[in-house]
Amino acid sequence: SVRVRFCPSPTGNPHVGLVRTALFNWAFARHNKGSLVFRIEDTDAARDSEESYGMLLDSMRWLGLDWDEGPEIGGPYAPYRQSQRMDIYRDVVGKLQDAGHAYRCYCTTEELDARREAARAEGRPSGYDGHCRDLTEEQIAAYEAEGRTFIIRFRMPDETITFDDLVRGELTFTPENVPDYGIVRANGAPLYTLVNPVDDALMEITHVLRGEDLLSSTPRQIALHKALNELGIAKTVPAFGHLPYVMGEGNKKLSKRDPQASLNLYRERGFLPEGLLNYLSLLGWSFSADQDIFSVEDLVAAFDIKDVNANPARFDLKKAEAINADHIRMLSVERFTAACEPWLKAPFAPWAPEAFDPKAFAELAPLAQTRVTVLSDITANVDFLFLDRPVEDEASWTKAMKGDPVALLTTARAGLAEAEWDAESLKAAVLAAGETHGLKLGKAQAPVRVAVTGRTVGLPLFESLEVLGRERTLARVDAALA
Ligand code: GLU
Repeated sequence: SVRVRFCPSPTGNPHVGLVRTALFNWAFARHNKGSLVFRIEDTDAARDSEESYGMLLDSMRWLGLDWDEGPEIGGPYAPYRQSQRMDIYRDVVGKLQDAGHAYRCYCTTEELDARREAARAEGRPSGYDGHCRDLTEEQIAAYEAEGRTFIIRFRMPDETITFDDLVRGELTFTPENVPDYGIVRANGAPLYTLVNPVDDALMEITHVLRGEDLLSSTPRQIALHKALNELGIAKTVPAFGHLPYVMGEGNKKLSKRDPQASLNLYRERGFLPEGLLNYLSLLGWSFSADQDIFSVEDLVAAFDIKDVNANPARFDLKKAEAINADHIRMLSVERFTAACEPWLKAPFAPWAPEAFDPKAFAELAPLAQTRVTVLSDITANVDFLFLDRPVEDEASWTKAMKGDPVALLTTARAGLAEAEWDAESLKAAVLAAGETHGLKLGKAQAPVRVAVTGRTVGLPLFESLEVLGRERTLARVDAALA
């Protein structure tokens, strides 16, 4: 059965490229009724952090991407943190060396650099030249006597490696382009180049779906898998599929460090997990030619790795927001209200906690639900209800108070004071005030909106005034006139 893996290194903040990889693996596993293995590649003590590890787990949970084996749930191939698997790697490296698939390389950095330069100058391939491939006992003893340290290299077979990439089709690598490569550092620490394929083999991963940036390591890993098969450590070689690059601003590769790439940013802005997943699934894949809004269930039902496009995908924030907005519209009012909760309190909301009135919020929530793009928009839409005084925004005032709003506001205030306190009567009052001064409704309501809410745009004004109440509305108009 299908077994795929998501195997991030716990460094830095989770980013959208990482989430896209997790999502495609998850969707592939769920579509094929297989397993998603969540493995933590934390063999780089200098860069890995517990904080980052915690964020990874939290992000997966928030997105609803569940795993079948891995952190906190364990599984038959435990442990799933590579830092706890060092004995396994040591053992495998020993076997690779005994069988001649790996060897000690005593070359110093200076020697390697010098030979690389020379090769370049002569137009020869500049990768590792195999210098230490076949050292004799005497040569080894001499290097040891010199006090040199060694790394361990994997011996690439002298043959062309061809594989059928699940996304890109048949790919071929010739030996001169894939030199022998390091698998263990001089200090004995195993490298990604070793532990990643070894764990894929031991955990019986059937399909490796990962970013295009890792494509160059695939021929090396296939050779290592074959060696593990030969040694009886593994039984098969996984299939590989490389997901297209994600391009950001200016058609440059979206880098991990790009602020636009930070998953936390989207969370804080109030993307729904289903909205973000919907959008990210379109980075290299499409649901159908004429539909780009769909549920996670639809995605799982339709997802086929064969449909992934090899061309770079473009990250389009506007489209991401539009898709998220559609998902917000699809929520029940109850779920929308619950989803807004974080943005209705500190640190996002500027009002005192006791000022929040759930009943007032409930009255405007349906109006807000059809208008916000991201959930964080909710704060500015309803803050006039819970702040003592509306926010002060110079620009809004100047814009709405062009001309002479005092006369209009004075007439409108008189009309509002007399009106039944429901949206329809309030509208009639402002409409009438506008007529008195030769203003259409839009022009007439602008200063009222700014006086009462502090903003030039917001929820439908008259429903807003109805919920705010007569006393507070009139007091704000008075304050604006004062
Ligand atoms: N730990 C590696 C990374 O985060 C995994 C790459 C792979 O999927 O093979 O880049």
